[in-house]
Amino acid sequence: MKALVYNGPCDVQIKNVPDATIEKPTDVLVRITTTNICGSDLHMYEGRTSMETGRILGHENMGEVIAVGKAVDRVKVGDMVCLPFNIGCGFCESCERGLTGFCLTCNPGSAGAAYGFAGMGPYSGGQAELLRVPYGDFNCLVLPKDAQEKENDYVMLSDIFPTGYHATELAQMKPGDSVAIYGAGPVGLMAAMSAFLKGASRVFVVDPNKDRLALAEKMGAIGINDIEGDGAAQIKELTDGQGADCGCECVGYQCCDKHGKEVPNLTMNNLVEAVKPTGGIGVVGVFLPEDPGAKDELAKEGKLAFDYGKLWFKGQRIGNGQANVKAYNRSLAKLIHAGRAKPSQIISHELSLDEAPHAYKKFDERADGWTKVILKPGQ
Ligand code: NAD
Ligand code: ZN
Repeated sequence: MKALVYNGPCDVQIKNVPDATIEKPTDVLVRITTTNICGSDLHMYEGRTSMETGRILGHENMGEVIAVGKAVDRVKVGDMVCLPFNIGCGFCESCERGLTGFCLTCNPGSAGAAYGFAGMGPYSGGQAELLRVPYGDFNCLVLPKDAQEKENDYVMLSDIFPTGYHATELAQMKPGDSVAIYGAGPVGLMAAMSAFLKGASRVFVVDPNKDRLALAEKMGAIGINDIEGDGAAQIKELTDGQGADCGCECVGYQCCDKHGKEVPNLTMNNLVEAVKPTGGIGVVGVFLPEDPGAKDELAKEGKLAFDYGKLWFKGQRIGNGQANVKAYNRSLAKLIHAGRAKPSQIISHELSLDEAPHAYKKFDERADGWTKVILKPGQ
């Protein structure tokens, strides 16, 4: 089959590799119809992780079930399914509590398992024609009849829609709250959309990227260009000097200095400033435990220059980590089905798998107009 493989820093290639197959009785085999490029793929693409060369990337996947193992009895051949990026077993203590991002079976001794991800188990990614799904009955979200018609919406349930929603949950956002979101990348935009779905009174989105801010404004958010001024000061000014009720970090460590300045992980300090005392802060942007390829000296060791004293003094709370996609995807699918949520609105490029290496380069540069790339391996 054709697949996108990691070949070293800033080098991904389309190669012919052995077909994915059913390996265990609990597996499901999916023919991928849509697979996205994510900001998380860029940590590996930039060579800042232990990603092995030759591995297939891609954790935002959906497609059609074409074979099931002998122990699979819920999912059927022909079902259209969306696959949460976290791989869970369904029966460990974490999975039983809904914390599928921290499954104790699929990647023992580490923080969860995912497709095509460094440090998250040996699982191949879905930027390919076929994908093996472990514990298929548990991990496949079977989609309703409008799966093909709304494919570009449903595929966002694999990661960024639940992740954006998770950011607002970690921030303990409530209806009526004003919300400060750092990052207008796909995840930040999904956090903004989720905040509105949950009844936010106002949403402030901070990013130096003008076209991404324009998308946030189209959703009804107030865009704040952090290059033209101090974003936190602007948010305070717009909230009678108090700060937003809660905030979301949707940036993570960024190597990209396209905006003419190094980004020394200041988003956390900015959020502490932009959020009012006792407000919640949800951090879904990724900070790696080790980042030898980082430009920032502290980040190389997974450390952050963070004003903890300010956070403590303001009595704020922080929630961290990857989204437990299964905790949200069923409910969010209903919003898509009912026409109440349209996450596809942020897609900038719909390309074939062959065009993926070029798309990685442009998305990594955060080139103008390249907001969210989805790939169609069958086309
Ligand atoms: P992205 O990395 O392109 O988005 C980051 C955005 O932040 C960009 O638009 C960039 O211009 C902006 N930015 C950079 N520096 C900034 C600063 N100082 N202040 C404000 N904005 C700044 O793509 P993405 O897909 O949206 O990913 C965002 C982050 O979310 C990444 O770290 C990714 O790994 C992470 N992520 C986490 C989860 C999870 O489960 N926790 C899931 C998916 C993605
Ligand atoms: Zn992702």
